[in-house]
Amino acid sequence: MWLVVRIDLHAHSDASDGTDSPGEVVASAREAGLDVVALTDHDTTAGWGEAAETARALGVGLVRGMEMSTRYKNVSVHLLCYLHDPGSPALVAELAKIRDERAGRARVMVDRITEDYPITWDDVLAQAAGARSLGRPHLADALVAAGVVADRDEAFERLLSTRGPYYVQHYAPATKRAIDLVRAAGGVPVLAHPGATQRGRILPDKAFAALAEVGLAGIEVHHRDHSPAQVGRLAEIARRLDLLVTGSSDYHGDGKPNRLGENLTDEHVLDAIAAQGVTPVLRS
Ligand code: AMP
Ligand code: ZN
Ligand code: FE
Ligand code: FE
Repeated sequence: MWLVVRIDLHAHSDASDGTDSPGEVVASAREAGLDVVALTDHDTTAGWGEAAETARALGVGLVRGMEMSTRYKNVSVHLLCYLHDPGSPALVAELAKIRDERAGRARVMVDRITEDYPITWDDVLAQAAGARSLGRPHLADALVAAGVVADRDEAFERLLSTRGPYYVQHYAPATKRAIDLVRAAGGVPVLAHPGATQRGRILPDKAFAALAEVGLAGIEVHHRDHSPAQVGRLAEIARRLDLLVTGSSDYHGDGKPNRLGENLTDEHVLDAIAAQGVTPVLRS
């Protein structure tokens, strides 16, 4: 009999901008028939404890991770970080700075939106109740609650996109520096959805080689925001640079249509990640 191991390496909880609690993400992973799920909240590891508890209780494999906000020249780059030491002082300090600046940036965006629509900063804080890391999805939820838009998608399309009038950038460290910090913390850095053209500018081919040189471990190739052409391009870049190839859902609970397990990662890739990280994979 063939045993297929189902591994999804990118999911968000309400520690950042997902709608499930960390434990619920793990429970949802089990319901979706996954053997292993990675919890990768934006710029925080606050969900790790609860996720680990549920993973042990339910016998689901867990990769403790994070999705770090970075910037490469003028391109916003999300960096998945797996199995690092969450107490590494330099990384902890950088993440605190990113989260602070995320909050300040959300505030500026809300001040702009308030000129045209009936939402307040308190509405946003109410939507972000348990979150350690504030993002545009929380603004979207406040707009939904106020009846301005029907769902997060419409909020992004009409009001929150990078090209929209209310958009404000937030601070993010250079991608190379982030890779350094993650490696120094014993973690494994993988580029998240680097071919998602609808999110804004994307990395040019030559950037991948530069990042591989400073310690990038892999590329998330299989992701719903990638066209078939981008999947082909990224697979070829990974092959050429000898980088790991991952696939994942980028699950956000009810906030997005992404379903757990819609893209998967090969078992040998997870083994390679596990071999490079200082935090163990919890095995079911
Ligand atoms: P931020 O990090 O605050 O700039 O917000 C970006 C985050 O918003 C992404 O990481 C996604 O989680 C989420 N996002 C982007 N586009 C959409 C969309 N169309 N609908 C719902 N969430 C989205
Ligand atoms: Zn998100
Ligand atoms: Fe992302
Ligand atoms: Fe994500």
